[in-house]
Amino acid sequence: LVSRKKKSEDTVIEINGETVGAGGPSFIFGPCSVESYEQTAKVAESISAKGLKFIRGGAYKPRTSPYDFQGLGLEGLKILKRVSQEHGLAVVTEIVTPAHIEEALDYVDVIQIGARNMQNFELLKAVGETNKPVLLKRGLAATIDEFIHAAEYIMSKGNENIMLCERGIRTYEKATRNTLDISAVPILKQETHLPVFVDVTHSTGRRDLLLPCAKAAIAIGADGVMAEVHPDPSVALSDQQQQMDIPEFDQFYIELQKFMKQY
Ligand code: PEP
Ligand code: MN
Repeated sequence: LVSRKKKSEDTVIEINGETVGAGGPSFIFGPCSVESYEQTAKVAESISAKGLKFIRGGAYKPRTSPYDFQGLGLEGLKILKRVSQEHGLAVVTEIVTPAHIEEALDYVDVIQIGARNMQNFELLKAVGETNKPVLLKRGLAATIDEFIHAAEYIMSKGNENIMLCERGIRTYEKATRNTLDISAVPILKQETHLPVFVDVTHSTGRRDLLLPCAKAAIAIGADGVMAEVHPDPSVALSDQQQQMDIPEFDQFYIELQKFMKQY
């Protein structure tokens, strides 16, 4: 169902007045984790000031260690909802288990499936039964074929509003947190009719690489870019190394706009 052979036109998804998959790249910015109302609201303010339409932020965090911050859960979803209403944004947030879907539906505009859950087939089927758009991230060590099959699980249950997100894969290279597989973008666009995002934050793990990788994503034809922004990354409860602060975010976005004008 997700194959280009099945449907030759691009899938276009309308969310909160933003057209994803047509008319130029879409942007999803926001903190790694929702930590408080104040923290999330500061980021939301800088997003809406740019005329952007999405905010991301994790309420259920899939952390490597059980002793790391696990997210605020439902409280985090409530913060996202409040902030999104105050700033006219759509909420993109990760759901980690089918058990959370029902309570999350009132708070979430786009359900994110994280890299660690790309092959959690029961979760894929459960989000496939909702009518919420889904942002499906590529698994840590998933092939493109496995990634496409994961999207197929969602669509096979009736949900056609799927966005794919390349977020780097695990290789032997240690200079970056993951290796951004930039060629996955045109491959996914050829093989499927779905919009393709690039998460420059988790693919690089390095603040200094966010802008060049976002440019690369746009130049190669990505439908969107995701990156993390925190009012003070030095005190962030997750991903301190890679989130932009607000002035860095402003500069990042100005540079990206300049770059996009060349196209
Ligand atoms: C995230 O986007 O919050 C996240 C945890 O990313 P990933 O699932 O790609 O590691
Ligand atoms: Mn993160």
